[in-house]
Amino acid sequence: MKLRKVTAASAVVLSIALSATACGGGNKDNSSSSSSGGGGKIKIGIKYDQPGLGLKEPNGDFSGFDVDVATYIAGQLGYKPDQIQFVETKSADRENALSRGDVKFIVATYSITPKRKEKVDFAGPYLLAHQDLLIKKDSDITKGTDLNGKKLCSVTGSTSAQNVQQKIAPKAQLKEYSGYSECIAGLQSGAVDAVTTDDSILAGFAAQDKYKGQFKLAGLKLSNENYGVGVKKGDTELVNKINKAIEQMESSGAWEAAVKKNFGPANYQNEPAPKIGQIVQ
Ligand code: GLU
Repeated sequence: MKLRKVTAASAVVLSIALSATACGGGNKDNSSSSSSGGGGKIKIGIKYDQPGLGLKEPNGDFSGFDVDVATYIAGQLGYKPDQIQFVETKSADRENALSRGDVKFIVATYSITPKRKEKVDFAGPYLLAHQDLLIKKDSDITKGTDLNGKKLCSVTGSTSAQNVQQKIAPKAQLKEYSGYSECIAGLQSGAVDAVTTDDSILAGFAAQDKYKGQFKLAGLKLSNENYGVGVKKGDTELVNKINKAIEQMESSGAWEAAVKKNFGPANYQNEPAPKIGQIVQ
């Protein structure tokens, strides 16, 4: 898909439009033709089951910080919210979705890692999160090594699953599912003793009405997860445009507004906005 060029005049219009829509989320994933400027659709990969980050609501709306970041970036590239088609990109599918060209870019709690950079390119980072554990309120797990011998859930293709096996608790009985919502259901039923992934994701689940008061985060900061925007390997032009869009989102206050809107309800204490190109090891 060809990206439309943003002229100075349309950038002004866009920035006005974005101030009303950047934090709005709520785009439907139907494919009705766009009302604006004759532009086509842009396909963006997000998560569908991560409250506060990337969530497909029962009515078909999308919400979360990643959705707002994706919507803002698309706006800066010349796409109105109704020209966005969100596509689910699960943790294990992300590199392939970009290589195949299923989506133009991915905003899906996607940590920048050297291994992934062999297959895809990243813009950003736009958020720094940390791996943590979600456990039952009365759990006696207090540190990473307590997981050895325990049933632990994470997601296939995630950095969290890899970290547990290689560093945190190699003797944990790791169950890998395709999405975090399945892990959380397992924690509630007692099928697993803990769920591990980024604190940003776990906080969103813990705050959901149906789980309120049942779980707690261990607060361990087991890793640094630098969230980037994934693009097809070699598309440097798009990386540069997305980096500019992220900088604009941060300097305009839209980043902070999206943080408050999406992480406020879960009481997630996020790190300050990272600098483009600066990876926290
Ligand atoms: N941020 C980590 C990753 O990219 C964990 C969350 C996820 O699976 O998306 O692997």
